[in-house]
Amino acid sequence: MEIGIVGAGVAGIGTAYELRDADTEVTLLEKSRGVGGRAATRRRNGCVYDHGANYVTPDPELEEFMRGQGDTGPVEIEGPVWTFDSSGTIEPGEERERPALTYEDGITRFAKGVFSQTDATLETETRVESIGHEGDRWRVNADEREYAFDALVMTPPAPQTAALLVDADWSDSLRGELTAAIEAVPYRTILTAVLHYPFEIDRPYYALVNTDKDHEIGWLSREECKPGHVPDDESVLIVQMAPDWSLERYGEPEEAIADASAGLAASLLDDPRLETPDWTDCTRWRHALPDEGIDDGVLTRVEDRSLHFAGDWVVGEGRVAAAFENGREVGRRLRG
Ligand SMILES: Cc1cc2nc3c(=O)[nH]c(=O)nc-3n(C[C@H](O)[C@H](O)[C@H](O)COP(=O)(O)OP(=O)(O)OC[C@H]3O[C@@H](n4cnc5c(N)ncnc54)[C@H](O)[C@@H]3O)c2cc1C
Repeated sequence: MEIGIVGAGVAGIGTAYELRDADTEVTLLEKSRGVGGRAATRRRNGCVYDHGANYVTPDPELEEFMRGQGDTGPVEIEGPVWTFDSSGTIEPGEERERPALTYEDGITRFAKGVFSQTDATLETETRVESIGHEGDRWRVNADEREYAFDALVMTPPAPQTAALLVDADWSDSLRGELTAAIEAVPYRTILTAVLHYPFEIDRPYYALVNTDKDHEIGWLSREECKPGHVPDDESVLIVQMAPDWSLERYGEPEEAIADASAGLAASLLDDPRLETPDWTDCTRWRHALPDEGIDDGVLTRVEDRSLHFAGDWVVGEGRVAAAFENGREVGRRLRG
């Protein structure tokens, strides 16, 4: 059986993992240059930073799985998460119930490590442009190549999955209901600014989260609390801007987004030096986090068409652990 998986984020990798050693040929088609999707890491000037998901909060079973993955095991983030409100008042937050884990070489290591245990074929820089159904097979067009699979697993964020279904060459009584249900999943947009400083920012917390959802900044964290990410005497702030702010400024140049974020970070942390980072980076996450899940009845009903869906929007939880587990569940069903 040939199985195609659109997207090599943690959900797609989870599906491929469960299909390892099964009597299947699995191909992952991924539009970007590597695996991990929104669990993303970049490197610059000796710094490593996670500019999408900050960490994984695994349940005990997943934690054991992560710790058993060989030499490049996860590292725990030092320091608590505190809170702030729209007036900028900072307060200690609640104790973490589960450890917050990433890797010395960044959170993408998780997907890379799991992928290395599969026998799937990975086609990177391969954007799926259209899908269709012919006979018993799913046809997939990507970068002027055509693939055919016995079963197809779609893992891009709901709006991107819905767009492929709207244009699909596939007539089926469930198609309208399916597409409408997926299109209805709301996603938040987040602009992430990465701000580097050639000095330490000494604070008693790893991160701050805005609890009343009324500040321009939604989340601010210190990447130097992750072992191996930032050289001594330097600092990298990850500033995730609130969804309304992010939507308003989405089309602005990166420098303008970083400048404005640095000004807001300086004011929140009450430190004017933070207005002028010595280098910056920026990521536009159009589909950052699902605000709700989907009524999955229709997803279950289309499975007998050998069409499957996995990802954070299927479970309604924008978390790496949830997306990965959902991908694994789909893999187990396909295997069964
Ligand atoms: C700013 C931000 C902060 C976050 N913070 C946290 C956090 O601290 N902790 C946490 O647990 N979670 C966090 N999350 C959420 C977490 O990253 C996601 O829930 C999880 O990574 C989703 O995985 P996924 O596989 O479902 O989707 P994705 O990671 O989006 O994977 C889908 C893949 O499909 C690919 N793709 C899309 N369209 C196509 C196409 N047409 N053809 C081929 N490939 C395609 C994409 O490139 C991507 O690799 C955060 C997310 C963001 C954006």
